[in-house]
Amino acid sequence: MSELLTGDFYSFEELLDTDERAVLHRVREFLRSEVAPIANEYWARAEFPTELVKSYAELGIAGRAYPDVQGPKPTSLLSGFLALEMAHTDASMATFFGVHSGLAMGSIADCGDAAQRTRWLPPMSRMELLGAFALTEPEGGSDVAGGMRTTARRSGDEWVLDGRKRWIGNATFADLLVVWARDVDDGQVKGFVVEKDTPGLTATKIENKIALRSVQNADVVLDGCRVPEANRLQNARSFRDTARILRATRSGVAWQAVGVMLAAYEIALRYAGEREQFGRPIAAFQLVQDLLVRMLGNVTSSFGMVVRLAQLQDAGTYRDEHSALAKAHCTSRMREVVGWARELLAGNGIVLDHDIGRFVADAEALYSYEGTREINSLVVGRAITGHGAFV
Ligand SMILES: Cc1cc2nc3c(=O)[nH]c(=O)nc-3n(C[C@H](O)[C@H](O)[C@H](O)COP(=O)(O)OP(=O)(O)OC[C@H]3O[C@@H](n4cnc5c(N)ncnc54)[C@H](O)[C@@H]3O)c2cc1C
Repeated sequence: MSELLTGDFYSFEELLDTDERAVLHRVREFLRSEVAPIANEYWARAEFPTELVKSYAELGIAGRAYPDVQGPKPTSLLSGFLALEMAHTDASMATFFGVHSGLAMGSIADCGDAAQRTRWLPPMSRMELLGAFALTEPEGGSDVAGGMRTTARRSGDEWVLDGRKRWIGNATFADLLVVWARDVDDGQVKGFVVEKDTPGLTATKIENKIALRSVQNADVVLDGCRVPEANRLQNARSFRDTARILRATRSGVAWQAVGVMLAAYEIALRYAGEREQFGRPIAAFQLVQDLLVRMLGNVTSSFGMVVRLAQLQDAGTYRDEHSALAKAHCTSRMREVVGWARELLAGNGIVLDHDIGRFVADAEALYSYEGTREINSLVVGRAITGHGAFV
């Protein structure tokens, strides 16, 4: 793609150093050569391209930031750019990766003890073991902290888990699920690693999704699942610990949103230059330029926001409300951009051929998962006013 078509108008990529840019370009090359050509096909069939897992593993980027995973540590800026780049090609694959590397590995890295981290993180980083993260329930979405119904009951050296989870990405094929459940004794939410062959565990794919169709989301049932005490995440003592994981992954979703809107803008700009009506390219019409510039404004302001968020993250000063604001704001701007891009492609905007139809649909899922706009706004609202307004 020529430089003129890039949506990185303020050259944010130049903030990466040479080595980081080399990693980013390697991932970009893989996405463009291996993922882009098949993204629509798998999306249309609502299938996950299992054969790509090996190539993802070879990139060597899963969970690299965690201390127990060997190799150079990426900055939050590079991790953000990688999330952006994946979503720029295919939000489904970005989500698959985010669930595995961010939510599942992040839970073990943050809430596991040393033995648990060395047991699971290295094979997960090589993607020999794939992870899922099971927090949401059929009756507990936004209110999952207070309304969690899945229970954990201690029984000797084991725990017995009972309950239902919904929307769990990767769960149909994951080797292990990080399951959050309420301890019936002390009422606190705790985390458990449930391995895939555990008796009583079932994961049934949710059919007929209109967004992120390649992601295998599942309804999960835990029916008297027994897991050893060694599988209870030793440093997950309350929902506060779960929230810490979401703080990191919400910033990842904000980066994904920038990737999606960047792609939508670039597609629209290219199309406007090629499509002719009234004897001229539609890019020559004032109203079309206005749409393009509004898109570019959204992309650029959101890009600046996530770059600064990454700097706060690396400085260790970012808080829940920082990533909540970025998640709510960037996904809202993304939703506008994909809508405008679709408008600009008109009829061609509603077919998969130009990719924009897929981005429009996928944006809806990014907008709602990892906390809806309302819930993330309430997190920020509480921080700036001192008043919790959730109930
Ligand atoms: C594609 C996809 C993938 C997902 N992957 C995972 C996963 O891997 N693991 C996982 O655990 N979860 C996952 N989720 C679940 C996701 O995090 C939830 O969908 C999300 O948190 C919202 O919950 P809900 O859908 O139950 O909506 P609800 O909580 O029922 O919300 C419905 C509406 O009410 C609004 N609302 C709720 N409470 C308030 C309030 N206090 N004030 C104002 N408005 C309010 C919401 O903002 C929303 O608009 C996924 C979801 C999707 C769609």
